[in-house]
Amino acid sequence: MSSTQTVTRFAPSPTGYIHVGNLRTALLNWMIARKAGGTFILRLDDTDPERSKDEYADAIREDLEWLGLTWDREERQSARLDRYAAAADEMRASGRLYEAFETPVELDLKRKKQLNMGQPPVYDRAALALSDEERDRLRAERGGHWRFKLDQSRIVWTDGILGDLSIDAASVSDPVLIRGDGQVLYTIASVVDDTDMGVTHVVRGADHVTNTATQIQIMQALGHDHPTFAHHSLLTGPQGEALSKRLGTLSIRDLRTQGVEPMALLSLMARLGSSQPIEVRDTPEDLALNFDLSQFGAAPTKFDVAALRPLSATVLQGTPLSTVAADVAALGVPDDSADRFWTVVRDNIHSRAEMADWWRLMTEGATPEIDAEDAEFVKDAIAALPDAPWTDTTWAEWTSAMKTASGRKGKALFKPLRQAMTGRTDGPDMASLMPLLQRKPRI
Ligand code: GLU
Repeated sequence: MSSTQTVTRFAPSPTGYIHVGNLRTALLNWMIARKAGGTFILRLDDTDPERSKDEYADAIREDLEWLGLTWDREERQSARLDRYAAAADEMRASGRLYEAFETPVELDLKRKKQLNMGQPPVYDRAALALSDEERDRLRAERGGHWRFKLDQSRIVWTDGILGDLSIDAASVSDPVLIRGDGQVLYTIASVVDDTDMGVTHVVRGADHVTNTATQIQIMQALGHDHPTFAHHSLLTGPQGEALSKRLGTLSIRDLRTQGVEPMALLSLMARLGSSQPIEVRDTPEDLALNFDLSQFGAAPTKFDVAALRPLSATVLQGTPLSTVAADVAALGVPDDSADRFWTVVRDNIHSRAEMADWWRLMTEGATPEIDAEDAEFVKDAIAALPDAPWTDTTWAEWTSAMKTASGRKGKALFKPLRQAMTGRTDGPDMASLMPLLQRKPRI
């Protein structure tokens, strides 16, 4: 790998299913890598052995595959613990990692006192003042955790979305990198991985901005430059309400079950929050071609799940039979009708599941509700219609005969007949639909 190659990563914790918020992060990183012809890494942040589960790791892979977001390499943090231990040793030796002993209750008390006195709740570094004896005693009594000693200067970087950022390290607590039970925490694991794996661009949610500031210093303490960071805004609901609590119901697998088309979801998420218009594309690669991170803004991004329905309809309208041939065959549509079936149906559905409604109509006939003033006319018309099979010309011949017989024309002629044959007032071109219908309506 050359040092200039673009490398990005998507780093979910396998502690649950991924949702639209995670997808946004994954997609932005994926598009950066694909547009640059670089490498996209799927990194499982699984240093928490209690909460990380293989079934979630499998589900994440399955969801990404369904979306077509391919990855070039997979990494698991649980397989790299020796690397994190080595980095911790290096920082202990250079005096940047120190042992602290406060319990969560003690820390909480300190924070409350500081807030009461109008001070920022920043860890006071009391552990640095302990004598060797006190340290030994506390270690024996309760065990210690390890904090990174921030250099209390301003941390500055140019963010790929937020522009020039500056965070005063003195306003941030020295981050805990290793817990009392020895568990390595995300902050150090992520830094070691990003530097070891040559990650060049890190795009993640705006909730990570402070993490980024501390990670920049940790990278420097380990002798590395930091990658380009960009923080995308967080998603809100349609009224601007926080989405975090509802994300559980917006998992990728739920949306898949609801019949959302993957390219509808990707097309929306690739542009939401940017000044570029949402355009439905055929493949994730097409989305990457026009992708421009600098078009994204800092304002919270409104996400309305209802937008996926019309976008899925648009995707289906442009979907060739070959893509859905298995679904069409599974319904029982004969091979020689499949092409016509799909051409007629794809313009009239919002999900693949709705194909079944059309096939049922075709095989069983409609059970329409007919307006009272059309009842007589429709009864006569159905009686005049020969039995199926019907052809491309049946509709024209039938409606022309009924026009002559009834004197009706235009909407008064066509609407009741469409309604009789399909049970609906809108839908496919009737001339193309007639050869697919197999039964007269039940009226
Ligand atoms: N596992 C972290 C998360 O899901 C990764 C954050 C990052 O991209 O560094 O929040």
